[in-house]
Amino acid sequence: MQKLETENSKLKTNEAWEAAKALLSGLATTFIHLFRRPITEQYPEYKRPLPVRARGRIILTRDPDGGERCVSCYLCSAVCPVNCISMEGAERPDGRRYASWFRINFARCILCGLCEEACPTSAIQLTTDYEFAKIDILSFVYEKEDLLVDHQGKDKNYNFYRHAGVVSNYGGKGEHIGERKPVDIKSNMP
Ligand code: SF4
Ligand code: SF4
Repeated sequence: MQKLETENSKLKTNEAWEAAKALLSGLATTFIHLFRRPITEQYPEYKRPLPVRARGRIILTRDPDGGERCVSCYLCSAVCPVNCISMEGAERPDGRRYASWFRINFARCILCGLCEEACPTSAIQLTTDYEFAKIDILSFVYEKEDLLVDHQGKDKNYNFYRHAGVVSNYGGKGEHIGERKPVDIKSNMP
């Protein structure tokens, strides 16, 4: 019985010592900060420059020829973990696909950047703009006209239709950048 009491008393002493150590370490951190120069950034007068890859408001970009990059492949909407992208695909007479409407609900978007990663045409891009807080939740629903911009965003030179091998105004089979001529399967015949 006495042994048990001794063990309990040792345990309590250890716990008290651990608690005191935690308290002193917290106080020491506070004390060190008392002598540090405070760094106060005067936002919004001063806006800290963000890295190019910072993830803010989303845009739909154009290729260097001014055409819409989005080919409405639905990859971004498929990969979006919160299902906040929706669109409808259409096709121009020259075979080039585009989104007849494109919508992002920023009230649900978590700015994870997965849509940008998935996009094969560099159309959808996240920007460094993080200042788009609003009161009316419905105004977070951005339509294509709100998203589509007149520049190329981070990727200045890429034009999907010049590389992709899709027959369009930019070339036929085997005429795109880095594309090989189609194989004539009859040439393999004995
Ligand atoms: S950033 Fe993430 S959550 Fe927002 S639209 Fe893209 S995939 Fe969806
Ligand atoms: S933004 Fe990119 S991933 Fe999304 S539908 Fe358009 S081309 Fe496909």
